[in-house]
Amino acid sequence: MLQSGKSPVLNAMEPIVSHMFEDHFEKTGVLKCACERCQADILALALNHLPPRYTSTQAGEAYVKALFQEPQLQSDILRELASAVQVIEQNPSHAYE
Ligand SMILES: [Zn+2]
Repeated sequence: MLQSGKSPVLNAMEPIVSHMFEDHFEKTGVLKCACERCQADILALALNHLPPRYTSTQAGEAYVKALFQEPQLQSDILRELASAVQVIEQNPSHAYE
């Protein structure tokens, strides 16, 4: 596994998408399956559909906070998360183990 924590750049979308996933899907109990595998698949799928926003890790926290204030970005992320949840629920990779 590559360890992204050592990288000098950060895709600011990752913490934002994962935070929004927790708040809007994981904690609300709307997921058919909340196993780690499905959650990781949903996050990966949503992130693949969203343009990355790279920042240096030093400026990272402020950048993430600022990005997180953008209503347009939040609605894009929610839309991608909702469609990723549907795709993974219909075709969960945990089913093939
Ligand atoms: Zn699962």
